[in-house]
Amino acid sequence: MTTSKPKRVLLANPRGYCAGVDRAVITVEKALETYGAPVYVRKEIVHNKYVVETLRDRGAIFVDETDEVPEGALVVFSAHGVSPAVHEQAANRNLRTIDATCPLVTKVHNEARRFARDDYDILLIGHEGHEEVEGTAGEAPDHVQLVDTAEDAAKVEVRDPSKVVWLSQTTLSVDETMVRVKQLRERFPEMQDPPSDDICYATSNRQVAVKTMAPDCDLVLVVGSKNSSNSVRLVEVALQYGAKAAYLVDYAKEVDESWLDGVGTIGVTSGASVPDILVMDLLAMLEKRGWDDVELVTTANERITFQLPRELKRDLQQVANS
Ligand code: SF4
Repeated sequence: MTTSKPKRVLLANPRGYCAGVDRAVITVEKALETYGAPVYVRKEIVHNKYVVETLRDRGAIFVDETDEVPEGALVVFSAHGVSPAVHEQAANRNLRTIDATCPLVTKVHNEARRFARDDYDILLIGHEGHEEVEGTAGEAPDHVQLVDTAEDAAKVEVRDPSKVVWLSQTTLSVDETMVRVKQLRERFPEMQDPPSDDICYATSNRQVAVKTMAPDCDLVLVVGSKNSSNSVRLVEVALQYGAKAAYLVDYAKEVDESWLDGVGTIGVTSGASVPDILVMDLLAMLEKRGWDDVELVTTANERITFQLPRELKRDLQQVANS
Protein backbone atom coordinates (compact mmCIF):
# COMPACT_ATOMS: atom_id res chain seq x y z
CA MET A 1 0.00 0.00 0.00
CA THR A 2 1.40 3.44 -0.87
CA THR A 3 0.81 6.35 1.48
CA SER A 4 0.82 9.85 0.03
CA LYS A 5 3.02 12.44 1.68
CA PRO A 6 1.34 15.14 3.80
CA LYS A 7 0.79 18.25 1.72
CA ARG A 8 2.25 21.48 3.05
CA VAL A 9 3.68 24.73 1.75
CA LEU A 10 6.80 26.44 3.10
CA LEU A 11 6.49 30.14 2.31
CA ALA A 12 9.74 32.09 2.25
CA ASN A 13 10.05 35.32 4.19
CA PRO A 14 11.54 37.56 2.95
CA ARG A 15 10.41 37.23 -0.64
CA GLY A 16 9.15 39.58 -3.34
CA TYR A 17 9.49 43.35 -3.60
CA CYS A 18 12.70 44.93 -2.38
CA ALA A 19 13.07 48.60 -1.50
CA GLY A 20 14.62 49.49 -4.86
CA VAL A 21 11.82 47.90 -6.89
CA ASP A 22 9.13 49.42 -4.70
CA ARG A 23 10.66 52.86 -5.23
CA ALA A 24 10.99 52.39 -9.01
CA VAL A 25 7.39 51.22 -9.46
CA ILE A 26 6.01 54.03 -7.28
CA THR A 27 8.13 56.47 -9.29
CA VAL A 28 6.37 55.52 -12.54
CA GLU A 29 2.94 55.49 -10.85
CA LYS A 30 3.49 58.96 -9.34
CA ALA A 31 4.91 60.27 -12.63
CA LEU A 32 1.74 59.12 -14.42
CA GLU A 33 -0.44 60.78 -11.76
CA THR A 34 1.57 64.00 -11.69
CA TYR A 35 2.42 64.62 -15.34
CA GLY A 36 -0.22 62.46 -17.06
CA ALA A 37 0.27 59.79 -19.72
CA PRO A 38 2.35 59.01 -21.61
CA VAL A 39 5.40 58.61 -19.43
CA TYR A 40 8.32 57.03 -21.27
CA VAL A 41 10.42 54.46 -19.45
CA ARG A 42 13.81 53.35 -20.76
CA LYS A 43 13.90 49.53 -20.56
CA GLU A 44 11.61 47.57 -18.26
CA ILE A 45 11.33 49.60 -15.06
CA VAL A 46 11.90 46.32 -13.18
CA HIS A 47 12.22 42.83 -14.65
CA ASN A 48 8.67 41.62 -14.11
CA LYS A 49 6.08 40.93 -16.78
CA TYR A 50 3.04 41.71 -14.59
CA VAL A 51 4.46 45.03 -13.36
CA VAL A 52 5.41 46.13 -16.87
CA GLU A 53 2.01 45.14 -18.33
CA THR A 54 0.13 46.91 -15.51
CA LEU A 55 2.09 50.14 -15.96
CA ARG A 56 1.73 49.92 -19.74
CA ASP A 57 -2.05 49.74 -19.32
CA ARG A 58 -1.89 52.91 -17.24
CA GLY A 59 0.00 54.86 -19.90
CA ALA A 60 3.70 54.06 -19.53
CA ILE A 61 5.55 53.54 -22.82
CA PHE A 62 8.58 51.28 -22.55
CA VAL A 63 11.41 51.96 -24.99
CA ASP A 64 14.82 50.43 -25.48
CA GLU A 65 16.76 53.61 -26.04
CA THR A 66 16.32 57.32 -25.45
CA ASP A 67 16.28 58.05 -29.22
CA GLU A 68 12.81 56.47 -29.29
CA VAL A 69 11.52 59.15 -26.89
CA PRO A 70 10.13 62.33 -28.54
CA GLU A 71 12.31 65.44 -28.03
CA GLY A 72 11.48 67.22 -24.79
CA ALA A 73 9.36 64.37 -23.34
CA LEU A 74 9.69 62.82 -19.89
CA VAL A 75 11.65 59.59 -19.49
CA VAL A 76 12.20 57.46 -16.41
CA PHE A 77 15.41 55.45 -16.08
CA SER A 78 14.88 51.96 -14.69
CA ALA A 79 15.98 50.52 -11.33
CA HIS A 80 18.93 48.78 -13.04
CA GLY A 81 20.73 52.05 -13.71
CA VAL A 82 22.20 53.69 -16.79
CA SER A 83 25.67 54.72 -17.89
CA PRO A 84 26.74 58.38 -18.14
CA ALA A 85 26.48 58.03 -21.95
CA VAL A 86 22.71 57.47 -21.61
CA HIS A 87 22.35 60.59 -19.43
CA GLU A 88 24.24 62.50 -22.11
CA GLN A 89 22.03 61.17 -24.94
CA ALA A 90 18.95 62.21 -22.96
CA ALA A 91 20.36 65.71 -22.38
CA ASN A 92 21.16 66.04 -26.11
CA ARG A 93 17.50 65.33 -26.90
CA ASN A 94 16.29 67.78 -24.21
CA LEU A 95 14.51 64.98 -22.39
CA ARG A 96 13.24 65.54 -18.89
CA THR A 97 14.53 62.66 -16.84
CA ILE A 98 13.65 60.93 -13.59
CA ASP A 99 16.32 58.52 -12.46
CA ALA A 100 14.80 55.51 -10.66
CA THR A 101 18.15 53.70 -10.40
CA CYS A 102 18.20 51.75 -7.14
CA PRO A 103 20.49 53.52 -4.63
CA LEU A 104 22.32 50.22 -4.13
CA VAL A 105 23.16 50.12 -7.84
CA THR A 106 24.27 53.77 -7.65
CA LYS A 107 26.59 52.73 -4.82
CA VAL A 108 28.34 50.27 -7.18
CA HIS A 109 28.54 52.98 -9.89
CA ASN A 110 30.22 55.28 -7.36
CA GLU A 111 32.72 52.56 -6.45
CA ALA A 112 33.54 52.00 -10.13
CA ARG A 113 34.14 55.74 -10.63
CA ARG A 114 36.29 55.99 -7.50
CA PHE A 115 38.52 53.02 -8.34
CA ALA A 116 38.84 54.19 -11.94
CA ARG A 117 39.92 57.63 -10.70
CA ASP A 118 42.63 55.86 -8.68
CA ASP A 119 43.59 53.98 -11.86
CA TYR A 120 42.66 50.48 -10.67
CA ASP A 121 41.77 47.63 -12.99
CA ILE A 122 38.18 46.76 -12.07
CA LEU A 123 36.99 43.18 -12.51
CA LEU A 124 33.22 43.38 -12.62
CA ILE A 125 31.60 40.03 -11.85
CA GLY A 126 28.23 39.90 -13.59
CA HIS A 127 26.16 38.56 -16.44
CA GLU A 128 27.08 39.68 -19.92
CA GLY A 129 24.33 41.75 -21.53
CA HIS A 130 22.49 42.54 -18.27
CA GLU A 131 21.40 46.19 -18.16
CA GLU A 132 22.88 46.77 -14.73
CA VAL A 133 26.29 45.55 -15.84
CA GLU A 134 26.17 47.80 -18.92
CA GLY A 135 25.38 50.79 -16.71
CA THR A 136 28.14 50.07 -14.19
CA ALA A 137 30.76 49.29 -16.85
CA GLY A 138 29.77 52.51 -18.63
CA GLU A 139 30.94 54.52 -15.60
CA ALA A 140 34.55 53.57 -16.34
CA PRO A 141 34.76 51.77 -19.67
CA ASP A 142 38.56 52.03 -19.81
CA HIS A 143 39.02 50.40 -16.41
CA VAL A 144 36.26 47.77 -16.21
CA GLN A 145 36.47 44.22 -17.53
CA LEU A 146 33.49 41.93 -17.22
CA VAL A 147 34.01 38.53 -15.59
CA ASP A 148 30.99 36.33 -16.22
CA THR A 149 32.20 32.74 -16.56
CA ALA A 150 35.01 30.66 -15.03
CA GLU A 151 36.71 30.97 -18.42
CA ASP A 152 36.61 34.76 -18.19
CA ALA A 153 38.22 34.58 -14.74
CA ALA A 154 40.97 32.32 -16.09
CA LYS A 155 41.71 34.59 -19.05
CA VAL A 156 41.34 38.15 -17.80
CA GLU A 157 44.56 40.20 -17.73
CA VAL A 158 45.35 43.28 -15.65
CA ARG A 159 48.00 45.97 -16.01
CA ASP A 160 49.26 45.86 -12.42
CA PRO A 161 48.29 42.90 -10.16
CA SER A 162 48.78 45.08 -7.07
CA LYS A 163 46.11 47.51 -8.24
CA VAL A 164 43.04 45.37 -8.89
CA VAL A 165 39.59 45.38 -7.31
CA TRP A 166 36.54 43.23 -7.92
CA LEU A 167 33.02 44.63 -7.92
CA SER A 168 29.79 42.84 -8.80
CA GLN A 169 26.27 43.02 -10.13
CA THR A 170 23.82 43.36 -7.23
CA THR A 171 21.66 40.33 -8.07
CA LEU A 172 24.09 37.41 -8.35
CA SER A 173 24.24 34.12 -6.50
CA VAL A 174 26.31 34.81 -3.36
CA ASP A 175 27.93 31.35 -3.49
CA GLU A 176 28.83 31.46 -7.18
CA THR A 177 30.28 34.93 -6.84
CA MET A 178 32.54 33.72 -4.03
CA VAL A 179 33.73 30.89 -6.29
CA ARG A 180 34.59 33.44 -8.98
CA VAL A 181 36.36 35.68 -6.44
CA LYS A 182 38.43 32.75 -5.18
CA GLN A 183 39.42 31.92 -8.73
CA LEU A 184 40.45 35.51 -9.40
CA ARG A 185 42.31 35.80 -6.10
CA GLU A 186 44.41 32.74 -6.94
CA ARG A 187 45.61 34.68 -9.97
CA PHE A 188 45.73 38.12 -8.31
CA PRO A 189 46.43 37.60 -4.57
CA GLU A 190 46.50 41.35 -3.88
CA MET A 191 43.06 41.93 -5.42
CA GLN A 192 40.94 44.20 -3.21
CA ASP A 193 37.38 43.51 -2.12
CA PRO A 194 34.60 46.05 -2.70
CA PRO A 195 34.35 48.56 0.18
CA SER A 196 31.02 46.93 1.13
CA ASP A 197 29.01 44.03 -0.31
CA ASP A 198 27.80 44.75 -3.85
CA ILE A 199 25.29 41.88 -3.87
CA CYS A 200 22.39 43.65 -2.23
CA TYR A 201 20.61 42.77 1.01
CA ALA A 202 17.43 41.73 -0.88
CA THR A 203 19.22 39.31 -3.19
CA SER A 204 21.15 37.65 -0.38
CA ASN A 205 18.21 37.56 2.06
CA ARG A 206 15.98 35.83 -0.52
CA GLN A 207 18.71 33.28 -1.19
CA VAL A 208 19.16 32.58 2.55
CA ALA A 209 15.41 31.88 2.94
CA VAL A 210 15.50 29.46 0.00
CA LYS A 211 18.64 27.72 1.31
CA THR A 212 16.85 27.18 4.63
CA MET A 213 13.72 25.59 3.20
CA ALA A 214 15.11 23.81 0.11
CA PRO A 215 16.32 20.64 1.87
CA ASP A 216 12.74 19.96 3.06
CA CYS A 217 11.12 20.60 -0.32
CA ASP A 218 10.05 18.14 -2.98
CA LEU A 219 9.40 21.12 -5.20
CA VAL A 220 10.23 24.85 -5.04
CA LEU A 221 8.15 27.29 -7.05
CA VAL A 222 9.74 30.69 -7.63
CA VAL A 223 7.45 33.43 -8.89
CA GLY A 224 9.41 35.70 -11.21
CA SER A 225 10.24 36.52 -14.81
CA LYS A 226 12.88 34.81 -16.91
CA ASN A 227 14.84 38.03 -17.41
CA SER A 228 14.97 38.68 -13.65
CA SER A 229 18.48 37.75 -12.56
CA ASN A 230 17.71 37.40 -8.86
CA SER A 231 14.62 35.24 -9.57
CA VAL A 232 16.56 32.86 -11.81
CA ARG A 233 19.24 32.60 -9.10
CA LEU A 234 16.57 31.48 -6.59
CA VAL A 235 15.73 28.47 -8.75
CA GLU A 236 19.43 27.55 -8.97
CA VAL A 237 19.94 27.99 -5.22
CA ALA A 238 16.90 25.82 -4.44
CA LEU A 239 18.30 22.98 -6.55
CA GLN A 240 21.82 23.37 -5.14
CA TYR A 241 20.50 23.21 -1.56
CA GLY A 242 18.46 20.05 -1.92
CA ALA A 243 15.06 20.78 -3.48
CA LYS A 244 14.13 17.80 -5.64
CA ALA A 245 12.79 20.12 -8.34
CA ALA A 246 12.44 23.88 -8.81
CA TYR A 247 10.72 26.01 -11.44
CA LEU A 248 10.27 29.68 -12.28
CA VAL A 249 6.76 30.88 -13.17
CA ASP A 250 5.38 34.32 -13.94
CA TYR A 251 1.85 33.30 -13.02
CA ALA A 252 0.13 30.45 -11.12
CA LYS A 253 -1.45 29.28 -14.38
CA GLU A 254 2.02 28.36 -15.68
CA VAL A 255 2.41 25.61 -13.06
CA ASP A 256 2.35 22.29 -14.90
CA GLU A 257 0.08 19.84 -13.05
CA SER A 258 2.64 17.07 -13.61
CA TRP A 259 5.15 18.96 -11.38
CA LEU A 260 2.81 18.26 -8.44
CA ASP A 261 2.71 14.46 -8.89
CA GLY A 262 3.91 12.66 -5.75
CA VAL A 263 4.90 15.94 -4.12
CA GLY A 264 4.43 16.60 -0.38
CA THR A 265 6.24 19.80 0.60
CA ILE A 266 6.28 22.75 -1.80
CA GLY A 267 8.51 25.75 -1.14
CA VAL A 268 7.20 29.06 -2.46
CA THR A 269 9.16 32.25 -2.93
CA SER A 270 9.43 35.16 -5.36
CA GLY A 271 12.06 37.43 -6.85
CA ALA A 272 12.72 40.99 -5.73
CA SER A 273 10.64 42.46 -8.58
CA VAL A 274 7.49 40.42 -7.91
CA PRO A 275 4.34 41.90 -6.32
CA ASP A 276 2.92 39.64 -3.61
CA ILE A 277 -0.48 39.40 -5.33
CA LEU A 278 1.15 36.90 -7.72
CA VAL A 279 2.34 34.76 -4.81
CA MET A 280 -1.15 34.90 -3.27
CA ASP A 281 -2.59 33.67 -6.60
CA LEU A 282 -0.15 30.76 -6.53
CA LEU A 283 -1.07 29.88 -2.93
CA ALA A 284 -4.77 29.96 -3.86
CA MET A 285 -4.11 27.63 -6.78
CA LEU A 286 -2.17 25.22 -4.53
CA GLU A 287 -4.87 25.39 -1.84
CA LYS A 288 -7.46 24.18 -4.37
CA ARG A 289 -5.26 21.13 -4.92
CA GLY A 290 -4.93 20.31 -1.22
CA TRP A 291 -1.88 22.34 -0.19
CA ASP A 292 -3.73 24.40 2.42
CA ASP A 293 -1.21 24.09 5.25
CA VAL A 294 1.12 27.10 4.86
CA GLU A 295 4.11 27.56 7.14
CA LEU A 296 6.18 30.75 7.05
CA VAL A 297 9.97 30.31 6.94
CA THR A 298 11.36 33.59 8.26
CA THR A 299 15.10 34.17 8.02
CA ALA A 300 15.23 37.99 8.09
CA ASN A 301 13.03 41.00 8.72
CA GLU A 302 13.56 43.75 6.19
CA ARG A 303 12.78 47.34 7.09
CA ILE A 304 14.76 49.18 4.39
CA THR A 305 12.95 51.85 2.38
CA PHE A 306 14.31 54.38 -0.11
CA GLN A 307 13.16 57.93 -0.75
CA LEU A 308 11.68 58.73 -4.17
CA PRO A 309 14.04 60.29 -6.75
CA ARG A 310 14.86 63.92 -5.91
CA GLU A 311 13.47 65.37 -9.16
CA LEU A 312 10.08 63.67 -8.60
CA LYS A 313 9.92 64.63 -4.91
CA ARG A 314 10.49 68.28 -5.85
CA ASP A 315 7.59 68.24 -8.35
CA LEU A 316 5.30 66.38 -5.94
CA GLN A 317 6.04 69.05 -3.33
CA GLN A 318 5.20 71.81 -5.83
CA VAL A 319 1.88 70.13 -6.68
CA ALA A 320 1.12 69.77 -2.95
CA ASN A 321 1.86 73.48 -2.37
CA SER A 322 -0.20 74.74 -5.31
S1 SF4 B 1 17.38 43.77 -6.05
FE1 SF4 B 1 18.75 44.96 -4.72
S2 SF4 B 1 19.86 46.33 -6.10
FE2 SF4 B 1 18.11 45.52 -7.26
S3 SF4 B 1 16.51 47.06 -6.96
FE3 SF4 B 1 16.27 45.56 -5.31
S4 SF4 B 1 17.44 46.40 -3.56
FE4 SF4 B 1 18.09 47.46 -5.41
